[in-house]
Amino acid sequence: MKPKFLLHVCCGPCSIAIFEELQNQFDLTVHFYNPNIHPVEEYDKRKSEVFKICSELNIPVVEGSYDDKRWFELTKEYKDEPESGERCSICFRIRMEHSAEYARDNIFDFFSTSLTMGRNKKADVINLIGVELGEKYGVEFYEEDWKKGGRQERADELVKKKRIYRQDYCGCVYSK
Ligand code: SF4
Repeated sequence: MKPKFLLHVCCGPCSIAIFEELQNQFDLTVHFYNPNIHPVEEYDKRKSEVFKICSELNIPVVEGSYDDKRWFELTKEYKDEPESGERCSICFRIRMEHSAEYARDNIFDFFSTSLTMGRNKKADVINLIGVELGEKYGVEFYEEDWKKGGRQERADELVKKKRIYRQDYCGCVYSK
């Protein structure tokens, strides 16, 4: 039996090459929890791309609630921070913590996130948060910098080939 792996994903372009890599090694489930995405129409667009890809690849996907009010509340103090600053670290933690909790409650062996695939996303910051959350919730965090090892190029190729919607901003209203 393959180990159970929960992957938090932010969007289709960042996750498709990761699915390809993990699907053979693990019993993979995708977790879509992104209350940072604004407006809700954009959230729906990204969600529907992820669900479409998962359905094609036969990967189960679960959606967390779109509790954007809580996200705004937790990040409002940092609204003027530049991208990659403190607001982003809080945003990563909010999303990854929900996945870590879900992984614990549903007895997964590993959890991880597609967030390090982003060109401007610092893998060391994200992985550190993941390891901390893994210890807190008792589920091993699978550390990776997904943008490396030719995966970003593979993702670009798949996005083009499958005509996957690619957004032009990170997600929150401040990045728009
Ligand atoms: S720029 Fe991206 S990572 Fe940073 S707070 Fe906004 S949505 Fe979150």
